[in-house]
Amino acid sequence: AGYRSTTPWSFSVTLRSGAAVATRTTLVTRERGRTIGSASMRDDGPMRSPLPDYLTEVLSVCSEGKGATSDHIPELKNADPDRFAISLVTAEGVTYSVGDDDTEFSIQSISKPFVYGLALEERGFERVLDAIGVEPSGEAFNEISLQRDTGRPLNPMINAGALTAHALVAENKTPEYRIRAIRDLLSSLAGRELEVDEDIAASELGASFRNVAIANLLRNYEIFPDDPDDIVAGYVGQCSVKVTTADLAMMAATLAGGGIQPRTGERIFSRSVVRQVLSVMATCGMYDAAGDWLSTVGIPAKSGISGGIIGILP
Ligand code: GLU
Repeated sequence: AGYRSTTPWSFSVTLRSGAAVATRTTLVTRERGRTIGSASMRDDGPMRSPLPDYLTEVLSVCSEGKGATSDHIPELKNADPDRFAISLVTAEGVTYSVGDDDTEFSIQSISKPFVYGLALEERGFERVLDAIGVEPSGEAFNEISLQRDTGRPLNPMINAGALTAHALVAENKTPEYRIRAIRDLLSSLAGRELEVDEDIAASELGASFRNVAIANLLRNYEIFPDDPDDIVAGYVGQCSVKVTTADLAMMAATLAGGGIQPRTGERIFSRSVVRQVLSVMATCGMYDAAGDWLSTVGIPAKSGISGGIIGILP
C-alpha cells in the first residue's frame, strides 16, 4: 500500500478470513499501536470486498492533518497539504484506492529501496555489500552516517547509502544515463511511463549543499569512483521522478509478489534481491523512527519527504 500524508501517523490492517460459503472479515485499524476502529462483516452470497469502505473510513479518520510540508527542498514547501490518498494493491494486482490517488508528486526517498534493488541486480551482492552496510543508523536521513574506519555508509536508506547505490547502478556514466536507467526501472515497476519533475529537481539541486558534502566524503573514502557533483545531480533526478499514490502501491506490490510486477507479469527483481531490499526497509526504511514503526506497524516500509509512504506485507 502507498499513501500520502503530511501527518506522522501510521496504520495497520489485520485481515482475517473464514472459509466456506459465508466469509467473515475483520479489519482492525491501529494508530501508533492503539486500536482506533474495527469493522467485522459477514458476506453471504456474492462476495463484496469490504476493503473500499474500510479504506474510506481510514482516510476520513486520518485526514485531520497536523503536519507541515517539507522546507528541505524549497519547491516542496508549495505542495498542497490537503491532498491525501490510500492505495492498496494485492500481489495479484487487484487495486483498492481512495482519495486523491492520481495526484502526482516527486517520489523522493521512496526511490531508495528500488534503486538499491537495481544496484544489487546490476553489480551483485558482493560489490554492493562491500560499499554499503545494512545497519540501522538511528539518525536522520541526511546525517553523515559512515563507518568510522572505512567511510562505508551504514545502510542504503539514508542519503549516504542512497547516493552510493545510485552511483553503483552504473560506474563512470553521466547523470543522464543513470537517471534514464532508474526512470526505466521505476516505470516498469509502476506499469506506466514516469517523468522527472524538472522544477523539483532544479530546486533540490540548488539547495544540495549537504548531499554534495556527503558525496565528496564518499568519494574521498573511494566508495565510488565518480565525480561527486555528477552523483548528486543524478540522485536528485532520481528523487524527482513523479508518481501517484496508485503508482507507489503498484511498485510496492512488485516487492510483495517476490519481484514480479503484478499487472505485466514481468520479473523485475530476483527473489534474493527482494529479500535483501525488504530486510533493509524493515530495519532502516523509517530512519530514526524505524524501531517505533516496526514495533507499532510491523511491516517493511519507506517514507519520502514529499509525504508518501509505502508499506509491504510480503
Ligand atoms: N531528495 C531528498 C534528499 O536527499 C530525499 C529525502 C527524503 O525523502 O527523505 O534530501
